[in-house]
Amino acid sequence: MRVLITGAAGFLGSHLCDRLIAEGHDVVGMDNFVTGNPENLAHLAGNQHFEFIRHDVSEYIFVPGKVDAVMHFASPASPNPESPYSYPNLPIQTMKAGALGTHNTLGVAKANQARFLLASTSEIYGDPTVHPQSESYWGHADPVGFRSVYDEAKRFAEALTMAYHRFHGLDTRIVRIFNTYGPRMRLDDGRVVPNFVKQALQKQPLTIYGDGLQTRSFCYVEDLIEGIYRLLMSDEHMPVNIGNPAEISILEFAKEINRLTDNPAGLEFHKDQRLGDDPQRRQPDITRAKSILKWQPSIDLATGLERTIQYFKGQNFAK
Ligand code: NAD
Ligand code: UDP
Repeated sequence: MRVLITGAAGFLGSHLCDRLIAEGHDVVGMDNFVTGNPENLAHLAGNQHFEFIRHDVSEYIFVPGKVDAVMHFASPASPNPESPYSYPNLPIQTMKAGALGTHNTLGVAKANQARFLLASTSEIYGDPTVHPQSESYWGHADPVGFRSVYDEAKRFAEALTMAYHRFHGLDTRIVRIFNTYGPRMRLDDGRVVPNFVKQALQKQPLTIYGDGLQTRSFCYVEDLIEGIYRLLMSDEHMPVNIGNPAEISILEFAKEINRLTDNPAGLEFHKDQRLGDDPQRRQPDITRAKSILKWQPSIDLATGLERTIQYFKGQNFAK
């Protein structure tokens, strides 16, 4: 296949490019570098199976030649307002990438009769009142909270994807991605993994927002990419959760990173940074992924974090 991947210079997009090329496909990567990093694609320069188009997906998209699949991953993804690379600081771009970007990428898929895969998110569920979250849960999202620019854009993107499927018969897929981490995350996008690992390698205290009792369930990138690849190759049109169900509090997560890095500096609580709609519990129910895709994660937290810490050490920022 010849596959268009938007958000190709980002964390997940760049890993997807590698996986698709390794499977024998040709990849057209697209990105405007708003949160991504050209370094994530540097190793593909000169690869005859890879082309790159610098473009903002919220503008009309033209891709010369035939496209067999479109994977729409372009969007800011960090909720941390302390980082300039976060969606609260890129609110209009985030809504445009999720709304206009999804419309434009669906248009490319329709014009080519190509299959389409949308990168959706566990944020669809907002601050969930049901636990764990299965795809049948409609969510509990604040339409005007500070996360709303992201959550509502993704909810709109899912609705538009289903409209193209139902009305135009487009061959679509929707993956709801839960917190994923690994090499190529941007060091300064403010998400918890780069924040904590950077702080730990600099022997600084880890910044816990709130009391740290809020939970997340962290999936290593290699596991996630395997699940997404299986979904792309499947015939499933309804949303599928992909994530690691191993739930952990942010407090325990911070302690684990301090342990793995021998960081003596401990923890620092930032009560004032508790943002109103920080989801309190998040854990994917992956029953559908297991039965439809025969997929489940295989890399445990300690192994994934070791690999991630090694990557960040190589980024030469640890003073
Ligand atoms: P990322 O910030 O590393 O990558 C996003 C990429 O999209 C960046 O390279 C950025 O420059 C590009 N981009 C953003 N707006 C664009 C635009 N208008 N035109 C062209 N390119 C644009 O983030 P990520 O973690 O790799 O996330 C990728 C996708 O996966 C996003 O859609 C995100 O919502 C989704 N997702 C990620 C996670 C996670 O845990 N990593 C969880 C849920 C959903
Ligand atoms: N968090 C934290 N300290 C940090 C960064 C994040 O305690 O330095 C918390 C944040 O409040 C949230 C969790 O870690 O409860 C995960 O945050 P992240 O930004 O990675 O993404 P989210 O899952 O909230 O979208």
